[in-house]
Amino acid sequence: HTPVRFHLTDPEMIHTIYQPRDPFAHKGTYGHALLIAGSYGKMGAAVLSAKACLHTGAGLVSSYIPECGYNIMQIAEPCAMCITDIHPHYNSHFQEVFRNNETTDQYKCIGIGPGLGTETATAKALEKLLELYNRPMVIDADALNILASYPYLLRKVPPGSILTPHPKEFTRLFGPSANHFDRLELLSQKAVSTQLYILLKGRYTAMACPDGAVYFNPTGNPGMATGGSGDVLTGILTSLLAQGYSPKAALLLGTYLHGMAGDLAAAKYSQEAMAATDIITCLGQAFLYIK
Ligand code: AMP
Ligand code: MG
Repeated sequence: HTPVRFHLTDPEMIHTIYQPRDPFAHKGTYGHALLIAGSYGKMGAAVLSAKACLHTGAGLVSSYIPECGYNIMQIAEPCAMCITDIHPHYNSHFQEVFRNNETTDQYKCIGIGPGLGTETATAKALEKLLELYNRPMVIDADALNILASYPYLLRKVPPGSILTPHPKEFTRLFGPSANHFDRLELLSQKAVSTQLYILLKGRYTAMACPDGAVYFNPTGNPGMATGGSGDVLTGILTSLLAQGYSPKAALLLGTYLHGMAGDLAAAKYSQEAMAATDIITCLGQAFLYIK
C-alpha cells in the first residue's frame, strides 16, 4: 500500500520550473513536436492542439492528420507542417513515420489523441507506434479510449509518458470508484503500477507521479468546461516535453499555464463567452505572468 502524498502547485514552484529562452537559441533548440490527431468532423481538435503547441514555444510543430484535414490545417495554422495519412477520413498508418531511427530521433515528443477516433486501423497503428517510439509521450482523448479497449497496450506506453483523462476517460481506463477519495487513491496507485504520469482533469486537476505523489493544480475555471479545452492542454504538454522539460516539470508547468490562460480568457471575455481558442490567445499573457 503506497501512502498518498498530496501537494498543491504554487506560483513559486512554477517560477522555479520555468526556464527562460536561451538568447542564442535557434528553432532546433526547442525541439520538434509531432501531434497525431483529427478525423473527419473533428479536425478542430487537431488544429487546437497544433496551435497550442506552437504558442507554448516548441521549435517546430508537425501535425499528422487524415487527408481530408490537409487544407483545414494548412490554412488554420500556417506555422505548422503537415503529414497526411493515406486514409481520407482518419489516421491509420502513422507508425510508418517511425520506420527508421532517423525519424524516431527527429521528433522529441509525440502528442496523440485529440479527435483521433477509435477505428480498428487507428488502434493497430497506435500499438505499432508504441513499439517503435520510446520517449515520453502525451496520450489523450481517443488514444486513451483505445488503451481502455485494449488494456495490454498500457504496458507498451513509454515510461514517463503523460496520460490526460477526464473523469469519464479515467473510469473507462481504470474502472469506477465509490467516491472522490477512492478515485484519488486509485489515481495514485495506477501512476505507481504503470510508472506513468496521470492527470485527472477537473476543478483542481489532480496529477499523479510514478512515485505516488499527487499534485493539485490551482488555476482554471468553469469557463473551460467547453469543447476543445482539453485539446489545448495536449498541445501545451507536448510542446514543453519537446522543449526538453522533464515530464514532471512539463506536467506541473503546462497544467498551471493552461488554467491561468483560461482564467485570463474568462477575465477578458467572461466564462460564458470564452472558447478554447481564447485559451490559446491568452497563453502569451500567462507566460508573462509566471516569469
Ligand atoms: P476536456 O474534457 O478533455 O476537454 O478537458 C477540459 C479541460 O478544461 C481540462 O483541462 C479541465 O481541467 C478544464 N476544466 C473543465 N472544467 C473546469 C472547471 N470547472 N474548473 C477548472 N478547469 C476546468
Ligand atoms: Mg478531451
